[in-house]
Amino acid sequence: MTVVNKVKVYPWGHERRFNAYSNYFRKLYGARIQKVSIDAGFTCPNRDGTRGRGGCTYCNNDAFNPSYCIPEKSVSQQIEEGIEFHKRRYSEASSYLAYFQAYSNTYAEVEKLKILYKEALACPGIKGLIIGTRPDCISDEVLEYLQVLAEKCYLAVEYGIESCYNKTLVRINRGHTFEEAKEAVEKTAALGIKTGAHFIFGLPGETREAMLEEADIISNLPLTTVKFHQLQIIRGTAMENEYRIKPSDFNLFSWDDYLDFIILLLERLNPDIVVERLTGEAPPRFLAVNAWGKKRTDQIVSLVEKRLEELDTWQGRKYEVKS
Ligand code: SF4
Repeated sequence: MTVVNKVKVYPWGHERRFNAYSNYFRKLYGARIQKVSIDAGFTCPNRDGTRGRGGCTYCNNDAFNPSYCIPEKSVSQQIEEGIEFHKRRYSEASSYLAYFQAYSNTYAEVEKLKILYKEALACPGIKGLIIGTRPDCISDEVLEYLQVLAEKCYLAVEYGIESCYNKTLVRINRGHTFEEAKEAVEKTAALGIKTGAHFIFGLPGETREAMLEEADIISNLPLTTVKFHQLQIIRGTAMENEYRIKPSDFNLFSWDDYLDFIILLLERLNPDIVVERLTGEAPPRFLAVNAWGKKRTDQIVSLVEKRLEELDTWQGRKYEVKS
């Protein structure tokens, strides 16, 4: 950290106390950039029997898909409607990234992927792609193609990793191991492709210490971005049933607990990793348990920043470089 004109500037080049995604894009593009979600009609190998059936126990994709994302609409129509939607909410944004979000967005032949990705990139205002997928759903052929695209536009692959512990991954029926996730992240990053990962905290069977130790594991992955989510029990999922049968197996974070937890986690996190999300936010109608009332993401970010300030701490303050 350096002090410029009495203002503390952190290693990521600004005065916010964590390496925030919005500032990262301002630095890259000099302006706000907005993601536009797409449901391109993919399915998921953990649902169709290729890797598993029934999907991850917490998954209900409807809870995360914006209303304009309907796979019956073309990619360009969803982008057009998504841009209109965001223009009404955030007049500031003039550039957009197409976010292939629903299910596993590399789960098709490379020729089909090329058509979909190119359609998105041809839309006015689209500066690049973010492709959400599973770590076991990416071939060398697809990565080679993405490497070529990444040389021409912003391109990130985001992997759902969720936990660094195989015992948990089995418990939530992820259908892949942490070693597979690590390999996918390393291969992707080695090709110069921006690589993101999602993690959930509060999964059954994980202690607070085990979750905090994930900060050290995550810090050693070659990640560009991370998204953190607190476990939310979503209606209509296998996890909702498990929760109803044995709630004592779950230790859902209260807001105060999560605030303490996320500060400790950020302190241990590699300062080079850009933090895109600190919490998940499913619409209240999807929540089987609403542990945090009406707290919204922007309020939560302010509260985390306030606490970082009060404690005079920041992302990476306790990060130890592993040799
Ligand atoms: S969370 Fe992702 S990988 Fe798991 S079942 Fe849902 S779509 Fe498939």
